Parts: sequence; C-alpha cells; structure tokens
Amino acid sequence: MISQRQLFLQHQAQTSPSPLMLEIVKAGGIYLEDREGKKYIDFISGISVSNIGHCHPEVIAAIEQQAKTYMHLMVYGEYVQSPQVLLAKALTDLLPPSLNSVYFVNSGAEATEGAMKLAKRYTGRTEIVCFKNAYHGSTQGALSVMGNELYKQSFRPLLPGIRIFDFNSEEQLELLNENTACVMIELIQGEAGVIPAEINFIQKLRALCSEKGIVLIIDEIQTGFGRTGTLFALEQYEIVPDILLLAKGMGGGMPVGAFIADRKMMNALTHNPVLGHITTFGGNAVCCAAALANLKVIREGNLEKRALQIELIIRNKLSSCKTIKAIRGKGAFLALDFEQESFNFRVIEKCIQYGLITDWFLFCAHAMRIAPPLTIEDAELERSCEIILKSISEAGKRN
Ligand code: PLP
Repeated sequence: MISQRQLFLQHQAQTSPSPLMLEIVKAGGIYLEDREGKKYIDFISGISVSNIGHCHPEVIAAIEQQAKTYMHLMVYGEYVQSPQVLLAKALTDLLPPSLNSVYFVNSGAEATEGAMKLAKRYTGRTEIVCFKNAYHGSTQGALSVMGNELYKQSFRPLLPGIRIFDFNSEEQLELLNENTACVMIELIQGEAGVIPAEINFIQKLRALCSEKGIVLIIDEIQTGFGRTGTLFALEQYEIVPDILLLAKGMGGGMPVGAFIADRKMMNALTHNPVLGHITTFGGNAVCCAAALANLKVIREGNLEKRALQIELIIRNKLSSCKTIKAIRGKGAFLALDFEQESFNFRVIEKCIQYGLITDWFLFCAHAMRIAPPLTIEDAELERSCEIILKSISEAGKRN
C-alpha cells in the first residue's frame, strides 16, 4: 500500500526539496508523537504558535462548544458574533486605550496586508518603510516589506515605494518624511535570528512617526502572547503603536490573526470605498473561541512571567558551552549562534534524532531556534538542554 509519506511527496505541494518529513500522528502539551510512537519535545512551538502547548484542554473545550453552536455564518464584519465580540473586548482591555478596534484575519501575512492598506488609506500616502532582515509574511504585499533580497527577487514586480532602512540605525530614521504612509517593524526581529530592537531606537521612531504623521505598525506576530516575558513585547519598549499586528500564538493552535488600531483610523476602511478590506473567514467563530480560551490560559497561568524563568534556565544550562557563540533574545524567544551553518544543521539533525524539535532561522542559518511552549516544566527544560549539549558534542565529532 502506498504510504502517507509517498502521498505527501506526490500530491502535496512542497516548499523545499528537503522537507523534515516527520510523520506526526498526535500532539499534546509540549510533545509530538510520530507513527512509531517516538515522542519529540516541540522546542519551537510549531514556530511560536503553541505558546500554551498543543491541544490544551481548555482550547479543545472552547472549540467543541463553539463548533456545535455555529462555525461560519457570514463574511467578516456583518453579523454580531459572540466569540469575535468577546475576543475583541478581551484583547482591547489588555492594550493601551488607543488600540481599541480589532480587525480579525486568518494569518500573520493578512494582518500585514490589512495594516498596510489601512495606513495608505488613512494617510493618503503611498511610501512604506521597513527594515533589513524583516519578516512580515509571504504574500506579495508582505513580501514587498521583507528585508531580504534572496526570497523576493524571483517575484518582482512587488509593491512600489518601499524603502528599507538598517535595523537599529537611529541615523537612518532621519530620512523619514511626509511622503511616508507607514513604518512596519518587529520589536524583536525573528527570522533575522532574534535581534531585539534597541529601546532608544524604537522610542525615537515613535517620536518621529508622531511628528511627521506616519503610521507606526508594530508586528508582534511572533513576539506576542507572552513569548518574550510580557503579554506583548511593546510593554517593554514603553511605546504605543498606531497599528498592532497579531497572529501565531493568538489562536492556541487555530488560524487567526488581527490588526488593531484606534477606531477613528480603522473607520477609514468603511468608506471611499465602502468595504475597504474584506475577508470571508477572518475571525472565524471557532478560531475566536479558541483564541479567547488561549488568552485566558496565558493570563491565568501568568505564562508571560514563565517565559522569563525559561530564559533563565536555558541560559544557566547552556552559557558555559564554548561552541555556542552567543545566546540571543528575550524570554522564551531565543537563538543559539554557532560559527557555521553546516554545524548548526548537524546539531539540529542530532537534536531531532534525540527527540527535540528545533530549527534554524530564515535569514540566519547559523543560529538555532528556541521557542518552547510556555507551559514547559523545569525538568523538561533541563532535559531539552541536555539533548542540545549532547547534540553539539556529537555534531563536533563528525568534523
Ligand atoms: N510577521 C512575523 C514577525 C512572523 O514571524 C510571521 C511568520 O513567521 C509573519 C508575520 C507571517 O505570518 P503567517 O505565516 O501567519 O502569514
């Protein structure tokens, strides 16, 4: 009989010539389990999604309850749907007062797209500023603000009027002017290899945007929902963006994202033209119910604080290893730097062999990704670090 692995290769579109090909049949908490019953610690949370672990019982209960009440009713924005309303209220209650209007979408890239449209529509300007090594998604608009040429060059023409500045360069911020509709930025650049923005740089950016009437869009798609030690990383920078982007860890494993702004700005999407941004599935009732349960689990468990303990344990266990050139990042969003990409790939391969899932970064292939579920326990963390150290040691022997 033809195996699912063969069917995967024959009938499912591929994104690389060498997919990981793990055949996971079950997931729960921090663990994934393959067809042979081998368990893996998901040390990257499905790329910063499963912040509360896989298949959390409260998320499952919310999904089951909502699925038997209603799922899809109508395109976004027409009917009053309780899961959307309650989630919008819960989110805006936790955000600064000017972030009071939530537009629900299905993914991070869609949040990026919606925010860029809103900024252009609201300001009447067209130019967009983004940063080297930024990642905001893979659709054409989001790709236009990606700060890496390799992944863009085959898809041109992309959006016109894009300017790419150096990340953390206060000097280049002086180039912002009255033609700029928006600046799009991550507070911690993920795919660049977890590079935090400097606080002075972000505060200067905020001040200049306010001065020149530029919309500041902060992408917290990867840093949100407790990952970096606060519910949102922006709390650590003491600034308020004009638009906030969320997705990934928002849905407790279900696909949902959002762009959030002040109602006055958001209303620009209601006229000239009417229906300025539309989506069929954005804010799907089942996804919003899951997201509400997810938020409750994070808040009640103080999981954002747990992210800081996770960082401490990982730094304690790994910082004496000389092969690791640097441990970068904040909370449970870290990168381990190695000298060479090939070495990193060997370590990752070994880790997976020993039952720990990790990965590299899109624009930083010599660094290993660490982003475990925030529910991981101390003993599990220690075991994970031991697997990493053993993998490093064995990867070195193959040289
Ligand atoms: N923005 C950031 C910072 C991301 O890390 C990602 C995904 O990795 C995205 C946007 C795009 O999200 P999605 O893959 O859901 O479109």
